[in-house]
Amino acid sequence: MSRQKCIALIAHDEKKDDMAAFALQNEAVLAQAKIFATGTTGGRVLEACPSLDVTRLKSGPLGGDQQIGALIATGEVDLLIFFVDPLTPMPHDVDVKALMRLAIVYDIPMALNRATAEHLLDFAGD
Ligand code: PGA
Repeated sequence: MSRQKCIALIAHDEKKDDMAAFALQNEAVLAQAKIFATGTTGGRVLEACPSLDVTRLKSGPLGGDQQIGALIATGEVDLLIFFVDPLTPMPHDVDVKALMRLAIVYDIPMALNRATAEHLLDFAGD
């Protein structure tokens, strides 16, 4: 029996409105998955779509990115959707880099912007 797909969601502050809109637009597909999200992102997604199964981890700058990295390392994440803000310096830039590195190491599909995320969910929804 195959287990439920697990999707990790993260959005930097300037991208959180975008993430909330993305979640609402794709609610039906996301509803079939178990979702892990960093703290604030998860809160925004739940505000937009209260019925989704979202586990909120710590906020990104306080270790949430690293928690998602650990879940990738233990094989619990099938898809990473990470709306990155490329225009703002981040105090936790090293954590962001480490998370992306683990997604590459474990060959997890990773979307870093909305256009790619839409494509990945198209595949996940099939
Ligand atoms: P947040 O973390 O969802 O708690 O804001 C995301 C991040 O900035 O990495």
